[in-house]
Amino acid sequence: MFQKILIANRGEIALRVLRACKELGIQTVVVHSTADADAMHVRLADESVCIGPPPSRDSYLNVHQIVAACEITGADAVHPGYGFLSENAKFADILAAHNITFIGPTGDHIRIMGDKIEAKRTAKRLGIPVVPGSDGAISEEKEAKRVAAEIGYPVIIKASAGGGGRGMKVARSEADLEIALQTAKSEAGAAFGDDAVYIEKYLEKPRHIELQVFGDGAGRGVHFGERDCSLQRRHQKVWEEANSPALNAEERARIGGICAKAVADLGYSGAGTIEFLYEDGEFYFIEMNTRLQVEHPVTEAITGIDLVHEQIRVASGGGLSVRQEDIKFNGHAIECRINAEDPRTFTPSPGTITHFHTPGGLGIRVDSGVYSGYKIPPYYDSLIGKLIVHGRNRVECMMRLRRALDEFVVDGIKTTLPLFRDLVGNPDIANGDYDIHWLEKYLAKEE
Ligand code: ADP
Repeated sequence: MFQKILIANRGEIALRVLRACKELGIQTVVVHSTADADAMHVRLADESVCIGPPPSRDSYLNVHQIVAACEITGADAVHPGYGFLSENAKFADILAAHNITFIGPTGDHIRIMGDKIEAKRTAKRLGIPVVPGSDGAISEEKEAKRVAAEIGYPVIIKASAGGGGRGMKVARSEADLEIALQTAKSEAGAAFGDDAVYIEKYLEKPRHIELQVFGDGAGRGVHFGERDCSLQRRHQKVWEEANSPALNAEERARIGGICAKAVADLGYSGAGTIEFLYEDGEFYFIEMNTRLQVEHPVTEAITGIDLVHEQIRVASGGGLSVRQEDIKFNGHAIECRINAEDPRTFTPSPGTITHFHTPGGLGIRVDSGVYSGYKIPPYYDSLIGKLIVHGRNRVECMMRLRRALDEFVVDGIKTTLPLFRDLVGNPDIANGDYDIHWLEKYLAKEE
C-alpha cells in the first residue's frame, strides 16, 4: 500500500480523495494555487505545497511543479481527481518515468480513449454496441454525404479530440451537411488543435446512460451498474441518478456484462465509465472516460462501495476488493450538482459565501469544499458542492431530496439550488420521464 498520496486537484474532489486516504491510513499531500491557500483541502491535508499562481495552466496543470512537489514530499502516488490532468496520458507517462504511481489507467489506455475515433473502433472490437457512423475521420464533403446517406439523416459531426460537448454539429439534411462539416472542423481545430471529425447517426430522444466499470489491470473486470445522466444543459450534466429509471435488472446485467468483459479484455486498470446513448431499448457507445466521474457518489450510495478506496487498492497492486457477485444494488440515489451560478442564466457567481448550512439526516451526503466565510475564486469551475440523496426506492429518494433541498442554505452568492427545487416538483422528473433534451426545453419554456 502507498505511504503518501499527492492529490493533484482542488475543491470537493480533492477533499473526497483526502477522506479516502485518511480512512486507509495514508499520508496526504495537496498542491494548490495561490488563490486556494484558504481552501478546505489545504487545511485538512497532512502537507501542502503551493505550486503557482491562480491560472490552472500555471498551477493545477503544471506537470513540472507537481512532479517536483512529489519529489520534495516523498509522495509515492498521485490521485488526479477529475478534470485537470486526470486524462492526460503524458502526465501518467511522466509519473511512471519518475517511479511515482498514477492512480488511474496506463498512459496507453488513456490515449486510446482520449481519441474518440480510436475509442469507438476499440469499443466495436470489444463487442460494445456503437452509434452507426463513419469508420474513421471524414474530411471530404463527398465522403460525408455518402456516409450520411447510408446511415440516414439527421447526423451529428463530432470532434475526435472532443470534450465538454464542444465541436459537435447536427445536420438534418444534405443541405446542412457542408456547413456543419466546416464549422465542426474549425471549432475542433480552434478548441483542441486537431480538426479531425467523424459522423454518426443523431439520436432524437435518447437518454444518457453510463456504466461504472473497474479493471484490476490483470485481466479482471467488473461493473457497478449504471447512472442516468440525461438531465443536461449544453451537454453538461446537472442531475444524475443510479440506477436509471429506464432500465430493468435484465438490461442492466446484459450491458454491464458486456462492459465488464470489455475492460477485462483490454487489461484495463482502475475506474472507468463507458458512456452510452440509450434509445428504444438499444445502447449506443459514445465514449469512455478513464477516470473517476463527478457523479460517482450515486453509485457508491446504491452499492455501499467506496470507489476511491478501490482505485487506491488497484493502483497499489492490491486488486479489487469485490467480485461481480458481491456488487448488489440497493435502493435509489440522486445527485444534484450545486454550482455558484445564476439558476436561470447560468452565469457564474463567484464571491464570498456569507452563510453555508448543509442538510443532514438519513440518506443525505454533501460533498463540498466550501464553508461559511469562504471566498469562491473566479478562476475555476463553478461546482461548489454535490448533494447526494439515497432512499430505499426512487419515491423515497425524491421525498428526501425535496426535504434536503429545503434545508440547504447558501447565502452571499447565487447558486443552482432554486433550479433543483423546481425540478423535484416536476411531474416528468417525478416519473423519471425525460431524455437528454428535456432540461433545455424546460429552461427555454421558463424564460
Ligand atoms: P463530450 O466528450 O464533448 O462530452 P460526448 O460524445 O460524450 O461528447 O457527447 C456529449 C453529449 O452530446 C451526449 O451526452 C449527448 O447529449 C450529445 N450527443 C453526442 N452524440 C450524440 C448522438 N449521436 N446523437 C444525439 N446526441 C448526441
